[in-house]
Amino acid sequence: AKAAGRNTFAIFGGHMDELLRRRRKLEHDLRLALETRSQIEAFYQPVYSAEHKGLSSMEALARWKHPEEGFIAPDIFIPIAEEIGLIHELGAKVLEDACSVMADLPLISMAINASALELCSDGYPLRVLSRLAKWNIDPKRLEIEITESLAFGGEAHSDRNIAMLRNAGVRIAIDDFGTGYSSFSRVQNVMIDRIKIDKSFIDAVQGDSKPLIEAMINMARAKGLKTTAEGVETDEQSDALVALGCDSLQGFLISRPLARAAMIDLFNGTGKR
Ligand code: C2E
Ligand code: CA
Ligand code: CA
Ligand code: CA
Repeated sequence: AKAAGRNTFAIFGGHMDELLRRRRKLEHDLRLALETRSQIEAFYQPVYSAEHKGLSSMEALARWKHPEEGFIAPDIFIPIAEEIGLIHELGAKVLEDACSVMADLPLISMAINASALELCSDGYPLRVLSRLAKWNIDPKRLEIEITESLAFGGEAHSDRNIAMLRNAGVRIAIDDFGTGYSSFSRVQNVMIDRIKIDKSFIDAVQGDSKPLIEAMINMARAKGLKTTAEGVETDEQSDALVALGCDSLQGFLISRPLARAAMIDLFNGTGKR
C-alpha cells in the first residue's frame, strides 16, 4: 500500500509539473501575442433584431490563434490575461478591432465584453470614450456587457464607471442574465439598458424555462430594458422567443461568430434594415 501511495504521488507530482509548465508557456505566449499585437483579434457574432427583422448588431468575441496550438478558447485565455494583468491590453485590442468595424458599418451597433477588472479600473471609461472619439463613433452604438455581480454588486468603482459610460451614451447589458444571485426586484435599482438571457434558459424555452423566460421578458419590458436571448440554436426556440416578445436573438441559428471579412460579407448582403 505504501509503495502504491508513493507511486500515485509520483504520478500526481509529474502531472502537476506538466500542468504548470503548460500554464507558464501559455502566459509567456499570451504576453508575446499582446505585445506584438498579433494572434489576438475579435470575431463577431451577428445579432438578429425581431423588431427590424434583420441583423442590427453584433458581439465582438476575442480569439487567440496560437501559432502552434491553433485557436485557444477565451474561457482558457481570458482568466490567464486577468491573472497576469494583461486583460486591459486584451480589452483594448478587441475594442480597437470593434471600432474599425463600426467605422465600416455605420448602421450597426456593437457589443463588447468587459472583465470585472476592467470595469473596476479607474481609467476604463475614459479609455473607452477616447477610443470611440478617435474613430469618430457615436457612443450610443457601443454596448458593454458586464456580469450580474458587477451590475448589482454596489461596488463603488464599477458603479461610478458605469455611470460615466452611460452619461456619455454607452449602453450597458447584463451578460448571462439569470445565472447569478440577483433577484428581479434589484433590476430596478441599477442603470442598465439590456439583459442577455443566458443560454441555459434558452435551451429549455419550450419546456421548464418558458415561464421563467416569460417573466424575465415582462420584467425587462416593465423597466424599459431590452432583451437578447443567447445561444439560440433551433427554429423552434427562435419562434418561441419571438412569441414571448424577446427583442433580439443571438446564437448559432443566426450565425456562429465570424472572422471580420466573413462578417462584413454577411452584413453587406442582409444587414440593412
Ligand atoms: P459570452 O460573453 O457569454 O459569449 C457567448 C459565448 O457563447 C461565445 O463563446 C459564443 O461563441 C458562444 N455561443 C454563441 N452562440 C452559441 C450557440 O448557439 N450555442 C453555443 N453552444 N454557444 C454559443 P466564446 O466566444 O468561446 O466566449 C466565451 C466567453 O469568453 C464569453 O462568454 C465571454 O465571457 C468571454 N469573452 C470572450 N471575448 C471576450 C473579451 O473580449 N473580453 C472579455 N473580458 N471576455 C471575453
Ligand atoms: Ca457576452
Ligand atoms: Ca453571455
Ligand atoms: Ca458566458
